[in-house]
Amino acid sequence: MKVLLIEDDELLAKGIHAALVREGYAVDHVARASEALAMVRQKDAAPDLVILDLGLPDMDGLELLPKLRRKDYDRPLPVLILTARDGINDKVAGLDSGGDDYLTKPFEVAELLARLRVLERRAGYGETAVIQLGKVSLDTASHRMQVAGGDEVELPRREFALLRVLMENPGRIYSREQLNSKLYSWDDEVASNAVDVHLHNLRKKTGSDFIRTVRGVGWLVEKNA
Ligand code: CA
Repeated sequence: MKVLLIEDDELLAKGIHAALVREGYAVDHVARASEALAMVRQKDAAPDLVILDLGLPDMDGLELLPKLRRKDYDRPLPVLILTARDGINDKVAGLDSGGDDYLTKPFEVAELLARLRVLERRAGYGETAVIQLGKVSLDTASHRMQVAGGDEVELPRREFALLRVLMENPGRIYSREQLNSKLYSWDDEVASNAVDVHLHNLRKKTGSDFIRTVRGVGWLVEKNA
């Protein structure tokens, strides 16, 4: 799950970035509207979720908001507005401009994370926090996985992020580039075999037949896994 964080307060952005990364999100952070627009236009690196500050140095967030959405996305792009503007008129304007939720500063990180999970569910990433596919169930809140009713194991965050992408989109084949984009931020140093290492570790936990390899193309979890 890739989050685009658009926030020009560096200290706040750093805190949110760290909290999201701990939760297994890949985070791209930008401070300017122009950078955000460049980011959403990249085909394979487009975000799954946006956190948008309204007071940006080069454009008002409300003006930027409609420009973030693209018609060729598989799913709607949820936008959470995060701002110090707490007047009722500001909230109404934010929601009427296409924001999916509105959180005013200061806020608790736990609430931000819970609200993001609500937006994910609403965007079609499962009805509850738990995704069940075949013998594998994955709790997207606790990052715990259970195979065929066995013991629950907590997955390291990249393994969790990788399994989540595949399980949320069963039947869809993901290339190495697409998986890297979901797992890592643009400024992360990514080893060329990083995805293979995570897949290897995951298969030891899910059983070798759960994640399928399509030679030369990528990986998938079958719809009827
Ligand atoms: Ca600001």
